[in-house]
Amino acid sequence: MSTAELPRAPLRLRVDTHALAGNWRTLSEMSGKAQAGAAVKANAYGVGVGQVVPCLRDAGCEQFYVAHWSEVPALLSYVPARQVAMLHGVTDRAEADYARATGVMPVINSIAQAELWLEAGGGPCHLMVDTGINRLGIGMADTGNEAIGRLKVDMLLSHLASADEDSALNAVQLGRFREVSTRIDHQRRSLANSAGIALGADYHFEHTRPGLSLYGGVPRQELEGRISQVVFPEAAVIQRRRIAAGDSVGYNATFTANRDMEVATVSIGYADGFLRSRGRDCALQHGNFALPIIGRVSMDMVVLDCTGFPDLKMGDFLQIPFDLPRVSETSGLSQYELVTTLGDRFALHS
Ligand SMILES: *Cc1c(COP(=O)(O)O)cnc(C)c1O
Repeated sequence: MSTAELPRAPLRLRVDTHALAGNWRTLSEMSGKAQAGAAVKANAYGVGVGQVVPCLRDAGCEQFYVAHWSEVPALLSYVPARQVAMLHGVTDRAEADYARATGVMPVINSIAQAELWLEAGGGPCHLMVDTGINRLGIGMADTGNEAIGRLKVDMLLSHLASADEDSALNAVQLGRFREVSTRIDHQRRSLANSAGIALGADYHFEHTRPGLSLYGGVPRQELEGRISQVVFPEAAVIQRRRIAAGDSVGYNATFTANRDMEVATVSIGYADGFLRSRGRDCALQHGNFALPIIGRVSMDMVVLDCTGFPDLKMGDFLQIPFDLPRVSETSGLSQYELVTTLGDRFALHS
């Protein structure tokens, strides 16, 4: 092992923790009497558990959601096991034993999972009911099942399929959730994700589960102007060069210069979540100036037109546009995809 110090990374990510805590407080206030938790699965949507979880904990959040058991240890460095819910539940005995040993709460999603949990010794758990997304959760018809009846249910959950749209399915799911909550004993109920919070008080129950909007996503217009950008990525220039009229740039020569140009090669590519669909009509920011991307996005690089910016040099950082609703519109990628695919080559910086 070398003890040499790693040089500065050419990709860096600033997480605005004030904005993050502010978004949680906004979503918490919008949840009325309900307590707001936080979905922090997939390394806090790619933003980084190590920054996100302590920040939200300090803001007052007391309930965190992950989707894999592998995500649990990182959370347990910051919050008590009882505040962690594992959304996919227990699919074999090893997972049930791990849940019992750590005290992390599994979200039981089927009769088979309920039986597995009880066989392993059981204990407090959460229970997901599927009211219409048809993905995870016990069916409406399973509520009378004997194993389900023996569960010690803390939170009764369901998940909305179309909360980001004005869909008739929202009210249908709400009605079904109300109905099942009269048939299954529980301590508290939770239906709403970020968009669901904006659907109004009927959807709040005792607990809400925002994810996307914590990180700057705006899934419904009611949240516009209330949610702040949290994630600010930057990438370094690794080379400047001059190209002549007629020269092409990048894979498959999709761009040809119609004049002599100055171009800069920048250290971000699709391996960093900057997918090819983001290259279209996209520019990186050099302070107040927008430098347009030319040619294809490569795995580790993009090329920009920097004609007229003689000051831009190797080692300078450019800002990657990351206003999620706006970038989603221009790239065709969902706000969820934009943030969760950031990749692990970014150095955190303040
Ligand atoms: C991911 C997830 C959430 C958070 O949803 P957002 O749309 O990101 O706010 C809430 N509940 C469940 C069950 C989830 O899987």
